[in-house]
Amino acid sequence: MLASGAPFAWDSFSEIPFIEECMFEVTVEDTFAAGHYLRNYKGKCENPHGHNYRVRVTLAGQELDQAGLLLDFKNLREVMKPVIDRLDHQMINELEPFTRLNPSAENLAKYFYDETNARMKTQTNGRVFVKTVKIFETDETTATYFE
Ligand SMILES: [Zn+2]
Repeated sequence: MLASGAPFAWDSFSEIPFIEECMFEVTVEDTFAAGHYLRNYKGKCENPHGHNYRVRVTLAGQELDQAGLLLDFKNLREVMKPVIDRLDHQMINELEPFTRLNPSAENLAKYFYDETNARMKTQTNGRVFVKTVKIFETDETTATYFE
């Protein structure tokens, strides 16, 4: 039972526009090869080794553009490219912020998220944002970051 005078009424639920729940998603994957090693870790991965990484970026937004696209796949590839090019065929531990931050799949996922989300929001005036980034170290092992 509500206290009298409370501004709540059951009817107000029907006024919530359901369109706000609607979302479109667009996903692109790309790959890169790079070396890394984990600090503060005991096991095989403390030694330098390489992975053929796969990165999957999923965008989301409520509004489509005039062509009926959330975003052209090509545009998302262009946003991912400089991030991938910086890491491809490098020892990730030698690149900022991974000189301090461990280059785990989790931290790589957050790095891709931060880099691509900032560019995406600028490019689309906030219409499109990065929903998730998944990093595959192998076909069977992944780490995902989202906010
Ligand atoms: Zn590894």
